[in-house]
Amino acid sequence: AGKAVGAVVIIDNTFATPINQNPLQLGVDLVIHSATKFLSGHADALGGAVCGSKELMQQVYHYREINGATMDPMSAYLILRGMKTLKLRIRQQERSALEIAKFLQKKEAVEAVYYPGLETHSHHHIAKKQMKGFGGILSFVLKGEMEAIKILLPKLTYANKAGNLGAVETIYGPARTTSHVECTLEERKALGISEGLVRISVGIEDTEDLIADLEQAFAHLESASSISN
Ligand SMILES: *Cc1c(COP(=O)(O)O)cnc(C)c1O
Repeated sequence: AGKAVGAVVIIDNTFATPINQNPLQLGVDLVIHSATKFLSGHADALGGAVCGSKELMQQVYHYREINGATMDPMSAYLILRGMKTLKLRIRQQERSALEIAKFLQKKEAVEAVYYPGLETHSHHHIAKKQMKGFGGILSFVLKGEMEAIKILLPKLTYANKAGNLGAVETIYGPARTTSHVECTLEERKALGISEGLVRISVGIEDTEDLIADLEQAFAHLESASSISN
């Protein structure tokens, strides 16, 4: 649709990574990445990347020269080093992500699970067509909203609480306090962001350990809510 009106089509491919999706081959003009996330992969560097045709890249390069967004050598080193294991990390992360998504779907306390690898996801057919894998990011909605989140998350051993994603460690972030913290309650509602929504950026820990961790945390939540009822 963008092409039809002569617009430059830009996609943020941070979540998919070049391992799972190659937007230039799908007809996109510019691809941007937060290299801070999966590309570096270890939550220890900040950076970004943009890819596209020589002509467009010259314009980006020129703007960057004026703007002064130059990466320091240490970050460049860490990102290049991290990228060497990108594929291994992604494959492990998405193996666990699918298991976690299926686990969450079976839980009474969970209202919804969002993961493009699930056949029940509204865009599964698109993801299946244009991606090589479904990645390590998923989210779910807890019925008890922030109250339930505050019971569940502290019980998890393999859960770093942060706004970051794409690291070797598993990170849990409630939308209300991370990705959508700058929105008002009304704005989140308008965007369809539930107050019980939690994002999981799955790390490279053993799948069995992550599932076992969730099992015990949900058992705690279930017993806590049966007491309060
Ligand atoms: C984090 C993130 C950004 C911003 O990247 P920084 O490296 O933190 O500046 C942009 N897009 C997506 C999808 C992200 O997850």
